[in-house]
Amino acid sequence: MTTMKSKAVDRPESSTEPAKTEQELNPKTTRYEFLGPLGALGMTTVLPVLVLFFAVGCDSTGYPSKLLLHDHKAFFAKMMTPEYLGQLYDPMAFGVYVAFVALLAIFSLVLPGDVWPGSQLRDGTHLKYKMNGFASLHTTFFCGLYFIKDLGLKPLLFVHDHWVGLVVSSIIFSYLVSIFVYFKSFKKGALLALGGNTGNFIYDFMIGRELNPRIGEFDIKFFTELRPGMIGWAVINLSFAAKQYLDLHYITKSMVLVQVFQMWYIVDSLWNEEAVLTTMDITTDGFGFMLAFGLYTWVPFTYSLQARYLADFPTDISYYTAAGIVALNLIGYTIFRSANSQKNAFRINPVGPSVKHLKFIETKSGSRLITSGWWGMSRHINYLGDWLMALSWCLPCCFGSPIPYFYAFYFGILLLHRERRDDHKCRTKYGEDWDKYCSIVKYRIIPGVY
Ligand code: NDP
Repeated sequence: MTTMKSKAVDRPESSTEPAKTEQELNPKTTRYEFLGPLGALGMTTVLPVLVLFFAVGCDSTGYPSKLLLHDHKAFFAKMMTPEYLGQLYDPMAFGVYVAFVALLAIFSLVLPGDVWPGSQLRDGTHLKYKMNGFASLHTTFFCGLYFIKDLGLKPLLFVHDHWVGLVVSSIIFSYLVSIFVYFKSFKKGALLALGGNTGNFIYDFMIGRELNPRIGEFDIKFFTELRPGMIGWAVINLSFAAKQYLDLHYITKSMVLVQVFQMWYIVDSLWNEEAVLTTMDITTDGFGFMLAFGLYTWVPFTYSLQARYLADFPTDISYYTAAGIVALNLIGYTIFRSANSQKNAFRINPVGPSVKHLKFIETKSGSRLITSGWWGMSRHINYLGDWLMALSWCLPCCFGSPIPYFYAFYFGILLLHRERRDDHKCRTKYGEDWDKYCSIVKYRIIPGVY
């Protein structure tokens, strides 16, 4: 984790470039990703159902629930009963969910933070962003402590007891935000994402049309990127730890590992919040259902599956097993953080003391591609580190159910797909220089294997 923050740079928010026509500024998108409109339809329908399945199909009888496993007809019949359907309609859960997001939005507006410029946009401008995600996290925790001090841990059981209602609320909220930003993107002067202007409603709705939807100074995409997802995930995890503690009067080693590993990841990303400004999500992708659902629903409600499982099934492990899992996590973290930092340090100053020994090739575009050190082992060694960490989050749940391993499975597919997307981007950008780089650094992710 970085411990020193660089100072924010001040760059003009307004453009000095000549005005472009609407067609020059927002060209039509001619290439589909994610299997085009059909894939978009699948993502906007199947993914919410999958999250709902984890919510209603997993309970204290099993992951999946015993009834679903042994008599799925009876399970679906039970789901149609008014008592079960009642769980889906939970106005209190909706109120709590919306209040939580609103509180985070208020924190983002009022808490102090360094102001950083974003990458240059196609119209020549740089947007400004206030970095107070970490302040929002600890302010949320202190607000929580204020209540816990008087009321004890019991209020945290709300998350466990209203789980289905909270999941449904977040899905409804994701759709509402996506519909709002979709229609807002037709406002005159909106800068669209290069990949989100096909003219096909379902595809543009899913992939995101407008690049940086804002309400005044409030940047909806930047706010959504780390706060409701990451901070929501942290609150949910802690609520499940509280549930286990209230049931057992202690916390298992498995739960401790899951809490510490995931909290470390959350704190790390919020502490280094400015790093998000150069990611594909901020610089390239529009804000649509994919990001809204991903960050309001997917991250908090599926990344917390391990903590939820351990609250329902308080598995424990030996100290030796715990030590092995900690070692795996540290190996993953070292690869992930060292590789990412090495590239960042090299890109900022290639003759800096920590990177001046690295070999590289000079590309025609002017950028240099590292061919030794971490980036000489494989073209995305950072993905390997990230995935090893993902695996170490699942292993504390042992092997009573495959569901807690969903994260490692899904994340593996995401990284394989992302590597192909990035490869395509770099091949388009660097041409034959990329071929040369690939002939030197032969493996995509796992050195010697893939
Ligand atoms: P990377 O950090 O892997 O960066 C890829 C870019 O780096 C390329 O597009 C290229 O950009 C540049 N590059 C590639 N090879 C070299 C090289 N040899 N030398 C110098 N520069 C190079 O991108 P991501 O945004 O995919 O990943 C960032 C981190 O975020 C990763 O650790 C990943 O695991 C993590 N992540 C986590 C997710 C989660 O849900 N937890 C989701 C996605 C990512 P350029 O055009 O500048 O040359």
